[in-house]
Amino acid sequence: MSDQSKGKTIEFTDAGKVKPTDYPIIPFIEGDGVGPDIWAAAQPVFDSAVEIAYGSSKKIEWKEVYAGEKAQQKLGSYLPDESLKEIETHQIAIKGPLTTPVGGGFRSLNVALRQIFDLYACVRPIRYFDGVPAPVKHPEKINMVVFRENTEDVYSGIEFESGSSECAKLISFLKNELGKDQLRDDAGIGIKPISPFGSKRLIERAIQYAIENNRSSVTLVHKGNIMKFTEGAFAKWGYELAQEKYADQVITEAQLYDDYNGKAPAGKIVIKDRIADAMFQQALLRPDEYDVLATTNLNGDYLSDALIAQVGGLGLGPGANMGKTLAIFEATHGTAPKYTGMDKVNPGSVILSGVMMLEHLGWNQAATLITNALQKTISNKTVTYDLERQMDGAKLLKCSEFGQTIVQNMR
Ligand code: NAD
Repeated sequence: MSDQSKGKTIEFTDAGKVKPTDYPIIPFIEGDGVGPDIWAAAQPVFDSAVEIAYGSSKKIEWKEVYAGEKAQQKLGSYLPDESLKEIETHQIAIKGPLTTPVGGGFRSLNVALRQIFDLYACVRPIRYFDGVPAPVKHPEKINMVVFRENTEDVYSGIEFESGSSECAKLISFLKNELGKDQLRDDAGIGIKPISPFGSKRLIERAIQYAIENNRSSVTLVHKGNIMKFTEGAFAKWGYELAQEKYADQVITEAQLYDDYNGKAPAGKIVIKDRIADAMFQQALLRPDEYDVLATTNLNGDYLSDALIAQVGGLGLGPGANMGKTLAIFEATHGTAPKYTGMDKVNPGSVILSGVMMLEHLGWNQAATLITNALQKTISNKTVTYDLERQMDGAKLLKCSEFGQTIVQNMR
């Protein structure tokens, strides 16, 4: 039997976990700009890791699907229905960056994918690889996983332009019906919806992750001192959810000090909250006190980029957008258009997103092989331009060579 015919769509348990699988079909989107370069470097890394870990007993069957410029050229649409159908069928995908089409009818293809599949959690693990040039004194203290709410907040697309008739209507309603006299008549207006449904399902996912991965705390990040009914409510609903669903497995920070003298009992996860601006300070000053973070959409966007910058930058920042069962793993940087086709940029982001994907499949051995080989490649100072220019005595590798070196370092 050929490998081709062994490919299967992944299946899920009632709890939404991937059932053990040996030959999953996984759609991939190369992406635009540097996407084809980083994908070409990354795919052999995944295949080699799986082969070294499991021989021929497991293999990914890759299936290319089109989105972005390649889709527009081949199929006349930036986000063709065929591609969406493939992703929905297989419940998993991995992608490179996509250009935001100018005048293409999309705010952003990434936002469209998140909305179409209700990928409500943007998950970004942020850790330090020894030897990576970093702007802070102790980057090794950073090991956090950000769960950012992906569907609500000022990202929900309810925005009215200054001077438009819709905006005038809304301002008049807010002034006349709701007494908000302080509004300026020429303001543009964005709406910030945050619901208990959206907040609780995101926070549940963060707590569940903390439990399954032996993490010590979940911090609810919000700006509730100012925006009480949106940001403040996010934290309030988080504490409620923790009590409703995880009463035996969590304690609050107040309980930690009142009842346990500041030392969490074994197996208990501490639920705490921080005002967003204070959290940015804490991330710089006391990063080792934070573990899993659950955030509203905008705060999470800012915070995850700031955290990744502390440990060496964009080229090493993985991410996944996850729904109830469907998950899309992605390089978190953009298309870096000025480096298109130059075989130059760091493929680390998509490689580490693939590590997340392998863990999602339960293929932890293959995932660990890649992480260790990436660490070895960086420790040996054989790196792409973004790291090489900041490291003394490093050897400059092309994007493809960096992938090949990771493969060699796995063997
Ligand atoms: P960008 O992330 O593409 O690039 C900014 C700079 O970061 C680059 O010039 C480069 O110096 C550096 N960089 C990015 N990726 C790198 C890598 N792998 N290795 C080394 N250095 C790297 O951001 P931008 O220029 O603001 O956006 C370009 C396009 O990408 C836009 O169309 C934007 O909408 C899109 N975008 C897509 C995604 C996505 O698909 N997830 C995310 C952000 C931006």
